[in-house]
Amino acid sequence: MQLPTYPDVIAAALRLEGFAHQTPVFTSRTLNADTGAEVFIKCENLQRTGSFKFRGAFNALSRFDEQQRKAGVVAFSSGNHAQGIALAASLLGMPATIVMPADAPASKVTATRGYGASVVLYDRFTEDREQIGRTLAVEHGMTLIPPYDHPHILAGQGTAAKELLEFTGPLDALFVGLGGGGMLSGTALSTRALSPDCQLFGVEPEAGNDGQRSLRSGSIVHIDTPATIADGAQTQHLGNYTFPIIRDRVNDILTVSDAELVASMKFFMQRMKMVVEPTGCLGLAALRGMGDQFRGKRVGVIVTGGNVDFQNFATLIQEAS
Ligand SMILES: *Cc1c(COP(=O)(O)O)cnc(C)c1O
Repeated sequence: MQLPTYPDVIAAALRLEGFAHQTPVFTSRTLNADTGAEVFIKCENLQRTGSFKFRGAFNALSRFDEQQRKAGVVAFSSGNHAQGIALAASLLGMPATIVMPADAPASKVTATRGYGASVVLYDRFTEDREQIGRTLAVEHGMTLIPPYDHPHILAGQGTAAKELLEFTGPLDALFVGLGGGGMLSGTALSTRALSPDCQLFGVEPEAGNDGQRSLRSGSIVHIDTPATIADGAQTQHLGNYTFPIIRDRVNDILTVSDAELVASMKFFMQRMKMVVEPTGCLGLAALRGMGDQFRGKRVGVIVTGGNVDFQNFATLIQEAS
């Protein structure tokens, strides 16, 4: 198994040019005052399809050969990967089929269909999405692209940190949300190349700390689907590509509670005028939980996504007030 390296991230960035947004990097005086640090927020909630997943998806589909393009792509996803794949497939003129849980947020199902993909719904508690995806792939000759454990996916995700670090220069610390580790492993490749001494932290929901346990035990820990509002990080284990990269290049994996995620959602809304989904708040929630440990330092946070049902958003913010 050949693990991707930073040159793969550079190649992905070239493929994404003109297709993905170079998302803005925002600062907040309030946040700087609260933490004593100079904080740079990379806004992947403002990426096409509302999350960084478009980066990996477009990179992966760009590498299909003629035969693969004709048969198209199949993906299983609770949402953001689905939208990323759907838009990337439509831009590249190939068919896409997405296997989604029947209880996925309505906005995500609607958006995925809106990008032109066919959606196949399944029951998250009784059916195996990977099995459904594989069957579709075999029966129709489609190529299955997983949400994180794929070298072209993680190389694509690494382009967000590449943009951030090229903009800010070296950082002292960087906080990144963690599910299956596509984003964190790609970020690790860019960080070790562009800011080798930066402390790199992955951040998981407290209820699903398989990544933290994996890093500490040295092998991939599997857990049951965790109960958390961070629906983009309800993964059960890291991947065979993502884990070794994370193990060798990430300083630590931290956890935050759902209440801390909601507090950060509220912060983004009130102070920065941004809608950020619960999973997108992982990085900021961890930084805020560390008080002023980074006083005088330059710190990056990747906001990973902004796709949240309006009703759900309103309810969560209400509960926090
Ligand atoms: C997918 C996703 C994550 C987790 O990314 P991984 O590559 O699975 O670790 C974090 N935040 C958002 C918004 C996501 O969509």
